[in-house]
Amino acid sequence: MQVIPVPCLSDNYAYLVAQGRQAAVVDPSQADPVLRAIDEHRLKLTEIWLTHHHWDHVGGIEPLIEECPIAHVRGSRYDADHQRIPRQTDALSDGDSFEFGDATVDILEIPGHTLGAIAFITEGNLFSGDTLFIAGCGRVFEGTMEMMSQSLSKLRSLPPDTKVWCGHEYTVNNLRFAKTVEPDNQEIDRALEEAIETREANRFTVPGALERELATNPFLRFDDPNVAAGQDAVASFTAIRQAKDQF
Ligand code: ZN
Ligand code: FE
Repeated sequence: MQVIPVPCLSDNYAYLVAQGRQAAVVDPSQADPVLRAIDEHRLKLTEIWLTHHHWDHVGGIEPLIEECPIAHVRGSRYDADHQRIPRQTDALSDGDSFEFGDATVDILEIPGHTLGAIAFITEGNLFSGDTLFIAGCGRVFEGTMEMMSQSLSKLRSLPPDTKVWCGHEYTVNNLRFAKTVEPDNQEIDRALEEAIETREANRFTVPGALERELATNPFLRFDDPNVAAGQDAVASFTAIRQAKDQF
């Protein structure tokens, strides 16, 4: 399995997931960059996977269906029930899985950013949409803070060697914020230095390593005694998320 990031819009990532010549695309906000990448890598696009319904993740669906032999448009049961992913064919719930080529893809419901947010997990790759970013998390739009903290707790219990492919390139800013939460955390300093170099070289900070996220991401560390400082887990998460909203 090969994962190819496709930068879209100003800071979105779509991803091609290739199994031999067959490919799925995760969160295509636009069609053109995806079509170019498919051409370049000589792939055949047969599936579209959506982590949630926001326009900057689903905008490419219709034009991709025009151009490619798309057999499945997969999103959550919640988004299917609310008919808010264009041309959705498959409705996925927590614990569901499906086959893609010879790989199994597992689904986790991770509500909070939206109520229909899901993660796709396959062969050690996590497509986390706008729930888990490198060193950050998405804004809590539709869910509650408790819900979002539980979704992130679900993701942090995946194997530590999981590769994190997230919906946006926000890493440098996220690490600057992380530094304000834990000024003495040297893992954050190292990660920030690397992320700045990576971006200056016009490279991507994805995939992140879940193991490093556990050591640096304040939204996975909210209940660590050093971060929570005596608050209960949800109160600590809420304080960090609200501080980030103002950052
Ligand atoms: Zn979103
Ligand atoms: Fe987004």
